[in-house]
Amino acid sequence: MQFIDLQAQYKHLKSKIDARIQTVLDHGKYILGPEVFEFEEKLADYVGVKHAISCANGTDALQLALMAMKIGPGDAVFCPTFTFFASAEAIAFVGATPIFVDSDEVTYNICPQDLEKRIVAAQENGKYNLKAIMAVDLFGLPASYLQIQKIADQYNLLLIEDAAQGFGGSINGQKAGSFGNIATTSFFPAKPLGCYGDGGAIFTNNDNYAQLIKSLRVHGKGTNKYDNIRIGMNSRLDTIQAAILLEKLSFFPDELIARQNAAEKYNKELSMYNDIVTPYVPKGYASSWAQYTIKSDNRDSYRNKYKEKGIPTVIYYETCMHQQTVFKDLRNNSDNFPCAEDLSKSVFSLPMHGYLDK
Ligand SMILES: *Cc1c(COP(=O)(O)O)cnc(C)c1O
Repeated sequence: MQFIDLQAQYKHLKSKIDARIQTVLDHGKYILGPEVFEFEEKLADYVGVKHAISCANGTDALQLALMAMKIGPGDAVFCPTFTFFASAEAIAFVGATPIFVDSDEVTYNICPQDLEKRIVAAQENGKYNLKAIMAVDLFGLPASYLQIQKIADQYNLLLIEDAAQGFGGSINGQKAGSFGNIATTSFFPAKPLGCYGDGGAIFTNNDNYAQLIKSLRVHGKGTNKYDNIRIGMNSRLDTIQAAILLEKLSFFPDELIARQNAAEKYNKELSMYNDIVTPYVPKGYASSWAQYTIKSDNRDSYRNKYKEKGIPTVIYYETCMHQQTVFKDLRNNSDNFPCAEDLSKSVFSLPMHGYLDK
């Protein structure tokens, strides 16, 4: 049994995906070809935002968002300590400082109360220009944007949604990828909507950000392609990947239903174990089930039992951001992250995809 069965999905969509790839091979517009713009339009429609701008991967998407917000050295961005490394990495890569925030013990996403505490402390400390909050939709569940947006407004901070895992999720019908000032996602093969290589996208309703990001992804070009008006990146979604994503996106709503059914079956079967905590989805929220993650103080023994039965499990994440070697200079003895550290010691994920059999 596989953790994520990409072959089963390909088999299901093979004729459509193959035909789309062939079309690209026939027209030969491999970089920013017509499929890229067709995909961006459908993507914006799906998420319900004005602009969807594709790029090379989800990490670049975060970096492009931070660059468009002109965040750099001397600035600080708040982000959860319990997340994938790329969230914090992008902040540090543009020269800003990540300020880590503890997790909510029920949703595992960034804790709004702890966030506010750390904003107040950082304001008093006065070392950095406080610029933004980067919330992450961990394991597919959108972060508490209603509360987080209020905090962002109150403290005059920008808000970035890292929806690399949340894409497909929603809050009261509003889709992940539409929260905050700019949102980003990843099309890494194992994400809810994955391509067959690397890919990513940025979402915004702000025309100014959209225009900047379109320039930044092509070396900071001006209206004339050969006149560069700023320092940018080379970060585009390949036309072949856009072609694959077009087919996968049209089937995505069906896959989300299959994932939801699988999650419900897991919830039901696991509810009889009182040392296992199954995922919590607050009322009005929908998860894309990027991961089906459970929590147990007997993690090792459960993982061994699954292994004996040939069922793969993975730990996301064993190391918090504040524990990463590269961030050791940011450590501070008064800082503590009890919830995130507990999660890193007790969570693990079970196989999850749209083609799980009984
Ligand atoms: C996967 C992921 C990213 C980075 O996406 P890539 O396409 O692999 O660069 C960023 N943030 C989170 C939360 C992720 O899960």
